[in-house]
Parts: sequence; C-alpha cells; structure tokens
Amino acid sequence: MPHQITVLVQTPAHSQIPSALTYSHSQVIDAGTLVRVPLGRRDVLGVVWASASPPPTLSHPAEQLRPIASVLDSLAPLDATWRSLIDFSARYYQRSVGEVALAALPSHLRSLQADGLAKRVAKLADETKSAQKSTPRSEQASSNESDSTRQLTAAQMEAIGRVQSEPGPFLLFGATGSGKTEVYLRCTEQLLEEDASAQVLVMVPEINLTPQLVRMFSDRFAPRFGQAAVQSLHSGMTPVQRLNSWLRAHQGHTRILLGTRMAVFASMPRLRLIVVDEEHDPSYKSQDGPRHSARDLAVYRGQQLGAKVILGSATPSLESWHQSRASEQGGRYLRLTMAQRIGSGIGQSVPPNNGLPRVRLVDMSHQPKDCVIAPPLIQAIAERVARGQQSLLLLNRRGYAPVLQCQDCDWKSECPHCSAYRVFHKIDRTLRCHHCGLLEKVPRQCPDCGNQDILPMGRGTERLEENLVHLLADIRRPDGAPVAIARIDADTTRLKGSLETQLAQVHAGEIDVLVGTQMVAKGHDFRHITLVAAVNPDNALFSADFRAPERLFSLLMQAAGRAGRDAALGESSEMWLQTRYPQHTLFAALKQHDYPAFAQDQLGERERAGMPPWSAQALVRAEARTQEAAQVFLSCARQAGVQLLGQDSANRAVTLYPPVPMTIQRVANIERTQMLVESPSRAALQRFLGAWHDSLHACARQPDCKGLIRWAIDVDPLSI
Ligand code: ADP
Ligand code: ZN
Ligand code: ZN
Repeated sequence: MPHQITVLVQTPAHSQIPSALTYSHSQVIDAGTLVRVPLGRRDVLGVVWASASPPPTLSHPAEQLRPIASVLDSLAPLDATWRSLIDFSARYYQRSVGEVALAALPSHLRSLQADGLAKRVAKLADETKSAQKSTPRSEQASSNESDSTRQLTAAQMEAIGRVQSEPGPFLLFGATGSGKTEVYLRCTEQLLEEDASAQVLVMVPEINLTPQLVRMFSDRFAPRFGQAAVQSLHSGMTPVQRLNSWLRAHQGHTRILLGTRMAVFASMPRLRLIVVDEEHDPSYKSQDGPRHSARDLAVYRGQQLGAKVILGSATPSLESWHQSRASEQGGRYLRLTMAQRIGSGIGQSVPPNNGLPRVRLVDMSHQPKDCVIAPPLIQAIAERVARGQQSLLLLNRRGYAPVLQCQDCDWKSECPHCSAYRVFHKIDRTLRCHHCGLLEKVPRQCPDCGNQDILPMGRGTERLEENLVHLLADIRRPDGAPVAIARIDADTTRLKGSLETQLAQVHAGEIDVLVGTQMVAKGHDFRHITLVAAVNPDNALFSADFRAPERLFSLLMQAAGRAGRDAALGESSEMWLQTRYPQHTLFAALKQHDYPAFAQDQLGERERAGMPPWSAQALVRAEARTQEAAQVFLSCARQAGVQLLGQDSANRAVTLYPPVPMTIQRVANIERTQMLVESPSRAALQRFLGAWHDSLHACARQPDCKGLIRWAIDVDPLSI
C-alpha cells in the first residue's frame, strides 16, 4: 500500500493552493529529503515535510494521490533544526512554509534532476578530497594581519573568555577599530581546533563592502583547513557557484561559511558558532519575498542548536542594545564591551576619546550664506592634502541635483510615473528617476513655459565633487601634483569590479579627497584618512521615520570610524559635521563618541511613545492600480481585524491604525498604501496576525479590490 508523503513546494504567492501537498510513494521517505513532484503540468522541486503510513481514516484516498516523480537521494535529508528554522520563519513572518523553504534553497537546485544532482555531489566530494590532500600547509609565513599569535588586548581576552564560558547570545559592543574581527577569528579558531567537524557561519551585510573581513578569514584559515573549507555565499555569485557552496556546507566540507543574509538558511549540520558582523545593518532585513530578519533568525537558530551567537557592532540596533540590558532587568543577550581602539592604549593610559577622531560641529547658520562647504572645513581639507593625508566627504544623495526647476513657472522635474522628482545627472545630461528608472535627456527649455532658464536645485555627490574641484583648484600634494578628487557611489560603481578598483586607488593613496554616499562609510579599513566630513546630515533629524536618528547616528559613527585608523595618524584625525542644529542631543552624543548616551536618550523617547522595542509592529502593505483599490483592501482588512479583536479579550492589546499612503505614494504607476498594526506584546501581535491572515486573503478576493496587485505582511518592519 502506498505511503502518504507531505511535500513542500513553491506555489505562486497568494494562490489558493496550499504549499504543503500530499503525494504517494511506495516507501516512507525521511523528512527533509529533496524530491521532484508533479504540480499541475510542471515537474518541480519539493522538500518532504512529513511521511506517514496511511491512517485508518484517509483524508486523501491514496490511489487518488499523484506519485512522487523521483527522490534526490544523493543528498542527506535537511535536518530537523533546519526544518524547525523554516517552520519558525514561516510562522513568525506570516508566510507559507513552502514559500520559505523553497526560497531558502539555492535556486539552481530547482532545475536539477536526480542524476544531475548526484553527479554534481560526487564531483564536489572528489574535489574536496583532493583539496584536502594538497592544501593544508600548517607552517605558512603569516602576515601581520593574519597572525594568530599576536598579543590580544585585555578587552579582547575578556570577550573571548566570556564567549567560551557562557551560553550567550552575545552582543559584542566594540568601537570601530577595537578589534572585533580578531575576537571572531579567535572564537572560530578555538572551536574548529576543538571539534574536527564543527562549522562556523559568519554573516556580513554586503560582501563587497567588507572585503577585509572575508580576506582575514581566508588568510587565517585556508592554509590550515584547506581552501575548500572557507566558502562564501552571497548574491554576487552565479547560481551554480551558490549551489556548490550550499552543497559543500550541507555536506559538512565547509568549516567556515561567510555570507550575506541569505546564508542564515544554509544547511550546516555541524553549526556551532554564528557571527553577525555589523548587526545593526538594515540589509539583514530582506525587503522582498519573505521579509525576514537574518539577524533575528540567526539568534533563533543559535538557540535551537545550542550554538553560540555573537552579534557585533559599534552602534548596535536599539533592539539588540535593549536586549543586552542587565539580566535582572530582563535582558536576554550578554553585552561584551570593547571601548578602546587598538593601538591607542595597549599597556598605556587611555588616550583622549579612546583614540577616536575629534568631532567638530560647524554651525552652518554662522557660515556665509549658500556656502556648501564651510571655509574652515575647506581649509582643513587643504591642509591635509598638503600633508599627504586623505579626506572623506559624505553626502547621502547621488546625482548632480535632486531636482531641476524652471525659474519662471512652477515646473519641476517630476517623474510622470512616480510621486518623486527625477534627479539631474550632469555627466550625461539626463534626468533619472531613482524609483522607476525612467531616464530622459534633460530638456533644453521648460516643457511647460518654454523658458530656457531651468536650474538644478539642491546638491548630490556629483555636484559636490564639482564644487570641490573648484574650491581646491590651487592645492598641491606634497609631490607638487594637483589634488586628486574622486567619487564613489552607486553611479560610479555600476560596472562589476569598479568598486574594488576605486577602493584600491584610495588605499594606494592615489586619491586625496573622496566624495561618497553611505557606501564608503561602512567597514573599509582606510589607513590614511584623517578627516571625515558629513556635508549635510540634518535631513534625517526631522524625518517621519522614527528610526531615522538611529540610522544617522550609526552612519556618522561608522564614518568617524574611517578616520585615523592608522594609530600614528590617530592624534590628528577629525570628524566634521555641518549642521544648523549643533545643540541637538544626537550631535552631543556623537561628539563624545557616546553610543550608550545616545541609545538611552532614544530608548527613553521610544518608551514614552510606545514604540519598538517597547512594542512590536507589523505593516500590511498593499500595491494597486488605484489608490482606491488599495484603500478598500486595507479598510476591509482593518474591519475584519477589529472584529477579530473584539472576540478575543487576550488580543485587546493590539492596535490597528488606519491605512495611509506610503511616503512615496506612487512608483512606476503603482499606488502604495500601508497599515500599521502594533502591540506592546509580541506574542499578542503574533497570535493576532495568525488569526487574521485568512481574512486578508478573503478581502483581497473581494470584487472591489480588483485593482489590487499584491499585498504582504511585513513583521518587524524597518522603515515606516
Ligand atoms: P573592528 O572590527 O572592531 O572595527 P578591526 O578588527 O578591524 O576592528 O581591528 C582594527 C585593527 O586592529 C586591524 O587592523 C587589526 O588587524 C588590528 N588588531 C586587532 N587586534 C589586534 C591586537 N590584539 N594587536 C594589534 N592589532 C590588532
Ligand atoms: Zn517654466
Ligand atoms: Zn519614476
């Protein structure tokens, strides 16, 4: 008699087909096994979720079930902890378990049949074997950077000791340049030496922005464990590369996996340690498909497995910071602090600012009107050029000017398809919409009134670069050559490899002044930058998004961390901030490099306003052809929600806010609206969302919602 096998498949989002389907097979199949099954007229990849002999009361008479087409048995089944991670993620983020499971597997698996996969698996096993025979060279000349014998600082030793002796999870709160990477490396090393099959997962926000971290892990561990033991997993790899890397981790050949947020779902049967570097980085939260937070899932996964988890940051997310308060106050993470920069005080007295750059606030209301860069700042940059040191100017807006405007009538360079302005790019004289991608030549005259006097308003990185060229025209480098100015942003780094080339130029000292967006504020270890300036950080102070100050503070702290990383230059390093609000508490905390003070201030505000982490939130986002359709859908959902809440007194704590159009209401002619759901209790919110989900589907099927294109729930949204 055939057995009933429950298989997860990927069904189209919002389709009526459940993602767990029942098939028949002659034998029981272990949960976690990959199979190919028929779905409609297609043949698709599936994951066996449960396997049962037919119970006495059959829900599906077995003879009516379609049979499993083939079993991909060259791979060991995905283990119970992986399956529980998928289950949890689906439940928590309100997605079907099939969608989450299939999205968590490398996409290339979907196109492989049993024999193709078996061949690939055999080939990888051979490669690993031959690599193991040839590579390990334990006595390799090691450079300073990869030296595993160098003297640790007291703070590093303390942090490592506690990771070893306590269960965690840990929040490694370490200033930029305090040597967090060395802590990750040592914890990894100890674990791998102790346990010959243990695996470590190291997550970074974006691989190409953290090349140093990846290199450090390879340099230190590839000579010892073989090149194949250190693998990457990120979206910059081809589907085949990703599949190979995934397979190696699944088979246990990989000892260290370095990856972006997608790596949190890698199958690692012997996972013992998870590191999440720059844990505050928003890119850990996925912005499409199942909107999970890879950081939060890493913590969950670690707890499931009894694996250690280290979250590291100089400016932790306020959520993680709050979680790491004293355990008597309810904290669940253990905070490990490394306040001092390396090289600034090993065995010496603590230097001013712990070796971090001096912060200088320039009150722009006291500077010449319309000045872009205050004269004293220009002076400071010029002095550095003359000394052969580098400066970094940050402006979080690419292009030449955010809008073109007619000087006669009201015309502005609005995008016809979005509720946003098109940005002027001078380099190719185009107007580009940064939301829908619309690109047009700049009109010669005003399209409305014919006036030829249309001018750029405001400033982006392209214009800032032009200003600098002009302002620094007479400045010479120590060798007498003219100043070299460069710009790094999404426009200059579009081509593959161009970011690396440009960064290499900065590292080589060919560039004196670098202009860039937040892209350059993160992670890079620039040795010769002694001045970092934020040209216009004020916008974020008054944003509608309650997380804007947190992001600004972290960006500026990270940016400050780029300055003076070379201890010899540390003394003279400075961070300049041009602002009209020098009294703002955010800047006061920044001046002292005092993240805890900033966090306390912000958390106080959030507590008074009942915002996260004092409440849990979810957003329902709707996209539709008309604003009306989106509104009808969300109003229906709200009504259903209110009814549901009325029935269940335990759910009273949940608040449903009215639907509101998103800040950029229309993108590519699609109307976007959202509705906030909030509760002081995460559990109550979760219960409510689970119960509410069916009503949302029902609302979406209403005839009035015909123009609705898609909708989704975003649990723990990062931007509101
Ligand atoms: P973080 O990740 O905390 O910003 P890094 O790990 O990049 O800091 O460390 C900053 C610099 O200090 C790096 O160049 C690193 O090689 C060096 N470093 C780390 N630990 C030590 C140590 N114990 N002794 C000397 N240098 C160290
Ligand atoms: Zn006009
Ligand atoms: Zn547009």
